Amino acid sequence: MLETDVLVAGAGPAGLLLAAELALAGVRTTIVERHPERPPYCRGFNLNSRALDLLARRGLADGLVAEGHRVPHAPVTGLPGPLLLDGAATDHPFSLGIPQTRVEEVLEARAQELGAEILRGHELLSFTQDDSGVTTSLHNGLTVRARYLAGCDGGRSTVRKQAGIGFPGVAARWFALLADVECELPYGPSAGPDGRTVFVIPRPGYVRIVVREDEPPADKDTPVTLELVQAQVDAVLGRHVPLRAPRWLSRFGDAARLASSYRSGRVLLAGDAAHIHPPAGAIGVNVALDDAFNLGWKLAATVRGTAPAGLLDTYHAERHAAGARILANTRAQVAVEEAGDEPWADLLRRVAAHPAGNRALAEIITGLDARYETGEHPWLGRLAPDVPLTVSGRPTHLAALLHAGRPVLVDLAGAFGGWSGEVEVVAASSGLDIGGVLLRPDGHVAWVTEGTDDTGLAEAVRRWVGDAPVPASA
Ligand SMILES: Cc1cc2nc3c(=O)[nH]c(=O)nc-3n(C[C@H](O)[C@H](O)[C@H](O)COP(=O)(O)OP(=O)(O)OC[C@H]3O[C@@H](n4cnc5c(N)ncnc54)[C@H](O)[C@@H]3O)c2cc1C
Repeated sequence: MLETDVLVAGAGPAGLLLAAELALAGVRTTIVERHPERPPYCRGFNLNSRALDLLARRGLADGLVAEGHRVPHAPVTGLPGPLLLDGAATDHPFSLGIPQTRVEEVLEARAQELGAEILRGHELLSFTQDDSGVTTSLHNGLTVRARYLAGCDGGRSTVRKQAGIGFPGVAARWFALLADVECELPYGPSAGPDGRTVFVIPRPGYVRIVVREDEPPADKDTPVTLELVQAQVDAVLGRHVPLRAPRWLSRFGDAARLASSYRSGRVLLAGDAAHIHPPAGAIGVNVALDDAFNLGWKLAATVRGTAPAGLLDTYHAERHAAGARILANTRAQVAVEEAGDEPWADLLRRVAAHPAGNRALAEIITGLDARYETGEHPWLGRLAPDVPLTVSGRPTHLAALLHAGRPVLVDLAGAFGGWSGEVEVVAASSGLDIGGVLLRPDGHVAWVTEGTDDTGLAEAVRRWVGDAPVPASA
């Protein structure tokens, strides 16, 4: 029997980032991935501003940004113009064109460097949980005993089903065929005689064709063939346009479902295992990373025994609510696309055409509006901006203080140096009207003051970090 602290099922973006976060905190972590190697096709091709902001809190964004292609707006479906990110609440006011497979490679290398074990060609079949852990059976007869199991195993999650976690939502009303091929169609939509379209998306060395099926298939799992896509493309366009050199053929629909709970005892869900939604706004990878980043430090603290009571449950509280918003946002984009000249859709289009409305929609659709608690100070509950700082006489920036994945109390007033314990206190200076800020390991603000008043700091430390740290004078 293999023993580990956390068993992660699935080496997609969620599983890989979660494993890296756990390993960073010194937690023994094993990933089991059913595929012997990463599939040759690539699903997603973008990281949004929110995901880049989060990855920057571990020093992972700059390398990806250097490799990718910047686009100054957020992907959106159904609105006529782009959602511009200029002036949005982000340190990365652009979307990054980069293959999902490349992001996975970077995360996998990091997880392994930090000590996580990745077992490819290992499929999780079933598990049982008891008071002290989870015993998991794999397809090859291997048994893994772990203190926690994280289901990052995609939309058809075995972990979610075996845990008995409901997946309520709406079934797909339509399906579209996807084909990564070579063909002579121009990029963008090509309309046929009756107005139906074939959409062509440029990809490196090939194109991605997307065309809706006329009727939902009798069995959505029937393999898609080149002949099927070819026939549908020709039928929609009313002429024959040859599709060549197929790399990947698939089908997707507009189903939207959200796990009824992101936690069941010692079992947690993240990424597509917890939510599926229409493919609007190119958001799936980004939400998967957001979930993993939120869960990682909380689960690590729980495994290490330093977590305050209830910390792990805040994962469901924060990310289930975020998941519900993602479902609403993506369904709304599809609804606008299908709404024609409905008055409400016209209103939304005019909101999007207004500069302030455009920016607000960009922030909402990319998840930049994430705020886990509200309060008077605008920073509270939000991801703290990556402001320039001076620490020990040297220039640095706020995100760099989080690279170690620990909670940090940034003391900008020289007033909080006596705090100790799990919280690292960093004396810094900046041009900001901030006296001190307590950052969770994911960079969200747990407490902030503009002066030297530490009211609420002890409570915030108890709530997010644990009981141990106290001011030296206490
Ligand atoms: C055509 C298409 C285009 C997309 N484009 C974009 C885009 O541009 N931007 C974007 O953000 N998102 C996009 N997405 C969505 C994105 O690909 C997913 O949301 C994202 O991969 C979810 O990550 P995940 O880690 O939760 O799950 P996955 O990436 O699905 O990873 C789950 C992993 O678990 C493994 N697994 C499953 N069951 C088991 C088991 N029982 N045991 C062990 N391993 C198991 C799987 O093999 C897989 O590797 C697209 C999706 C599709 C289909």
